[in-house]
Amino acid sequence: MKKPSTPIMSVEALRAHAFDCVNEAVMITDAESNILDINPAFIRMTGYAADEVRGRNPRLLASGKTSPETYDAMRRSLAIEGHWQGEIWDRRKDGRTYPKWLSVTALYDAEGNTSHYIGSFTDISSSKDAVERMYYMAHHDPLTGLANRTALDSRMELVLSASRRTGIPFALMLIDMDNFKQVNDTLGHAVGDQLLIRIADRLRDNVRASDTVARLGGDEFVVILADIDSTQSVAAVASKLTRALAEPYELERHLLYSTPSIGVCIHPDDGGDPDTLLKHADSAMYHAKAQGRNNFQFFTPSMNAAAHERLRFETALRHALEQTTLQIAPQFSLHFQPQVDIASGRITGLEALARWHHPELGHIPPTIFIQIAEETGLIRPLGDWIFWEACRKLCDFKAGGLRDLRVAVNLSTQQLRHEQLPVVIRGALACYDLEPWDLELEITESTAMQNPEATIRILEQLKDMGIVLAIDDFGTGYSSLSYLKHLPIHRLKLDRSFVKDIESDTNDAAICSATIVLGHNLGLDLVAEGVETVAQRDYLHSIGCDLLQGFLCSKPLPADEVVAFVTEWNRRIGA
Ligand code: C2E
Ligand code: MG
Ligand code: MG
Repeated sequence: MKKPSTPIMSVEALRAHAFDCVNEAVMITDAESNILDINPAFIRMTGYAADEVRGRNPRLLASGKTSPETYDAMRRSLAIEGHWQGEIWDRRKDGRTYPKWLSVTALYDAEGNTSHYIGSFTDISSSKDAVERMYYMAHHDPLTGLANRTALDSRMELVLSASRRTGIPFALMLIDMDNFKQVNDTLGHAVGDQLLIRIADRLRDNVRASDTVARLGGDEFVVILADIDSTQSVAAVASKLTRALAEPYELERHLLYSTPSIGVCIHPDDGGDPDTLLKHADSAMYHAKAQGRNNFQFFTPSMNAAAHERLRFETALRHALEQTTLQIAPQFSLHFQPQVDIASGRITGLEALARWHHPELGHIPPTIFIQIAEETGLIRPLGDWIFWEACRKLCDFKAGGLRDLRVAVNLSTQQLRHEQLPVVIRGALACYDLEPWDLELEITESTAMQNPEATIRILEQLKDMGIVLAIDDFGTGYSSLSYLKHLPIHRLKLDRSFVKDIESDTNDAAICSATIVLGHNLGLDLVAEGVETVAQRDYLHSIGCDLLQGFLCSKPLPADEVVAFVTEWNRRIGA
């Protein structure tokens, strides 16, 4: 084919032709940066026609995504060197933003003053996309989208140096799926791949966004938990992952079962470099396989013992809760500890305290099982049961002749934060024909201090319902009296640790009496916990404390002893 001929032109005409033909967008501005002329490539790239930009400042192309520092550097460089080039982000007329490589040159008149600027640029989005794609491919597993071995290595270096700097340990878990080969062999690789994708999703869903999940290859995965606070919390995550991964997988028409074996090691206790840590996690993982699969093992035997002890409790707790909600052989019960009004000497309230008796493990203290319930999310069903049971028993106490007796229920952080709390409370009150003021809710000082705004909002809602609110264990946390005045509460419960030594420790005595004065000034009732002796009672009376709770009056009582005990106590006082 014959090429079109170009007529013989002058050099000026050729230059003008070049301006029109080049693929690079070009604009010419005056010294004040008003656009004088643009070429066709500019129109193609930006979407603006010549008369839409002539006389305007190139600012009209800006997307807002380029940093002010970049523009400062451009201005400085143009003023000093007469030239600048770099990457900036602009916006096309249709609204799409794009990165461009811009080069700006200043032109000068005979006196050396800037007369014009020439700007030329190319759209670099496709090469940038390609670079990002290449980076993504180099760092991710193509099947699952998880981090790959390269990304894991660099992530591990980062986590290691942070851990060395801060002294905060981190955990490394090696996860191998049991019998995965069977899936591949019997159902084919396509189903095997689908299963791996689902496993990766469950791994991602069960750790924090700041943790790392990587696929080493095949059915082997690694999870790094940074900034761990205790071996127990690592065990809790390992147990959660074991459970989540062992749930059946519904794939196409198949219901597949695949369980994990997990090896866990901790930096720095189990190794100081990536290779050692991976090697030790690997041997812990083989130990998990040898233990019958579908479990996790720590590299260090003593950590294993502690973690598995906890796991035993967790499994037992789950089971006990199921039995309680199904009302077969309930292992939980509530005990009630009387609260005495110091002035009258009468019992005016009861604190409901949860008890767990396991057929083999025996009596497990609430401080232990409440914490495990919190960590595993079981506190919601357990807390609901406690709440309903407390209301049910109060209804029985009333029927047994106890009037004007309030029952206090302890609320955990998760219960307090749960949006259904007012609904649960209204439901239980209505069901047992109770008034809101029959009920007192105790939250600990540390619960109240977590997310104060949210706490205030919830407490206000509960107070508006007419429920009495108390801060429990006051004096063990931040003890911020200035914060306390913002909380819509009625009562402060002084922690037992202060009450214990008030007779012998002048500091504790001073803190007690100062707290009582301040509490009263804020319009709060003061309840002293753990009062065991007459001397403690008399001292607390002398400094104006309102209520007492402790072994001096009674230990927490089984529900069926409450009516007789309280009736007899109040009869003696009244007599
Ligand atoms: P708490 O709410 O401060 O309960 C008071 C604890 O002090 C109870 O221990 C009680 O038995 C004990 N105590 C009472 N008087 C005395 C005394 O004179 N001397 C001594 N040494 N101890 C006394 P318990 O029942 O072991 O409960 C411990 C903690 O477990 C409770 O502290 C509370 O934080 C938590 N807890 C108990 N039941 C529940 C519950 O139903 N829900 C929630 N969320 N937490 C609960
Ligand atoms: Mg309490
Ligand atoms: Mg307490």
